[in-house]
Amino acid sequence: MTPREVLALIREKEVKSVDLRFMDFPGIWQHFAVPAETISEETFEEGLGFDGSSIRGWQAINESDMLVMPDSHTAIIDPFLKHTTVAMICNIQDPLTKEDYTRDPRNVARKAVNYAKSTGICDTVYMGPESEFFVFDDVRFDQNEHEGYYHLDSAEGQWNRGKIESPNLGHKIRYKEGYFPVPPSDSMADLRTEMVLKLIECGIEVEAQHHEVATAGQMEIDMKFNELIKISDQLLWYKYVVKNVARSYGKTATFMPKPVFMDNGSGMHTHMSLWKGGDPLFAGSGYAGLSDIAMYAIGGILKHAKAICAFTNPTTNSYKRLVPGYEAPVNLAYSRRNRSAAVRIPVYSPSPKAKRLEFRCPDSSCNPYLAFSALLMAGLDGIQNKIDPGEPLDKDIYDLTPEELKEVPQAPSSLEEALDNLENDHEFLLKGDVFTEDVLSTWIWYKREKEADAIRLRPHPYEFCLYYDI
Ligand code: GLU
Ligand code: MG
Ligand code: MG
Repeated sequence: MTPREVLALIREKEVKSVDLRFMDFPGIWQHFAVPAETISEETFEEGLGFDGSSIRGWQAINESDMLVMPDSHTAIIDPFLKHTTVAMICNIQDPLTKEDYTRDPRNVARKAVNYAKSTGICDTVYMGPESEFFVFDDVRFDQNEHEGYYHLDSAEGQWNRGKIESPNLGHKIRYKEGYFPVPPSDSMADLRTEMVLKLIECGIEVEAQHHEVATAGQMEIDMKFNELIKISDQLLWYKYVVKNVARSYGKTATFMPKPVFMDNGSGMHTHMSLWKGGDPLFAGSGYAGLSDIAMYAIGGILKHAKAICAFTNPTTNSYKRLVPGYEAPVNLAYSRRNRSAAVRIPVYSPSPKAKRLEFRCPDSSCNPYLAFSALLMAGLDGIQNKIDPGEPLDKDIYDLTPEELKEVPQAPSSLEEALDNLENDHEFLLKGDVFTEDVLSTWIWYKREKEADAIRLRPHPYEFCLYYDI
């Protein structure tokens, strides 16, 4: 949609409010709104001012006044707000220089795509994330919940809510058994359909929706893959729709990677393919139908995996998911069929157009603009330097002997470890000025101080169980 078309839409649908949205640094969608009648063609050229000083990770900017520049192509009528509202995703600019703000994650992603094109390797970058999430009852809506109390379940070693003399819960889906019996076991089929209908209303193509492996309430809705920036924008709508539909059902949705101990976590496996002149560059005649370019891209992703995890798995909770036994990858290897490898080559379809890599590490706690950019830059580095990914690992990695396993590099086991790796391995991200030194050092500082240290310094509830009586 052009700015003119947005203005026509505002008139035609009698839009009352225009909501301006942008992504903060750590990855939460922000917004403010203006009355619809204040929007004109100039708004799209001149932008709208706001105080950027309270946005997380952006405080260091000397000038806290910033501009949002609405991207008219992203205009969508918000399906949740009472008064008809057009929402637009915005880019951030410095009002004095009119330059794009370097810490705006969407700007990093735009630079990553432009850099990819400038290398001559490809003209199109597709990403397809499979974002999983949990839906839980929201205690605000269920007063009876407050009558229950927590008790330590010795078999499971965790605090559970509920009366010790509880009703028969035999009908409930057990841990790791949610994939994927029909209703009534799957009690959230209607909720997911409602989410899908709202996504379609927002112009997003949906391929499928299903319950996931974990106990009642873990699910996945698959959007069709799209270009890097578009799919990142869509992922923000995805989370927004999922959370708002859950809320309307008296429930709450979370994308935190590992909310339930001893059950599967929520991943965001990300499929990537590069195209040039309408041709898929990853299709070829090598291993699993891959081209040399695809093999080199895998080489780059595996070489830099520990560093890019600081963006694809950027929370302390991310590393509670990346452990053996829950279908999450722990070993940095590739395989055509092995879901325990960090890079998988799906072989559902023989069509060259469907040829892609699936990087299984990411989770939805990431900022998609930064995570997809880092993944792309690692793949490009592999292609530029012809990085050999070594042999595939087609055995079940979980069955390897300790000697064999020693040969396979491991995903980081903590956020601290990922950040240390990013500190030592980030030249590939600086190419084309995609990630600046300032973006990287601010990210590392923010994640260490505000998250990793904040968790490390606090007594953990389970420490009371282990040590209180010591
Ligand atoms: N939930 C698993 C993970 O954490 C993935 C399950 C699947 O293969 O879809 O990655
Ligand atoms: Mg899944
Ligand atoms: Mg997958």
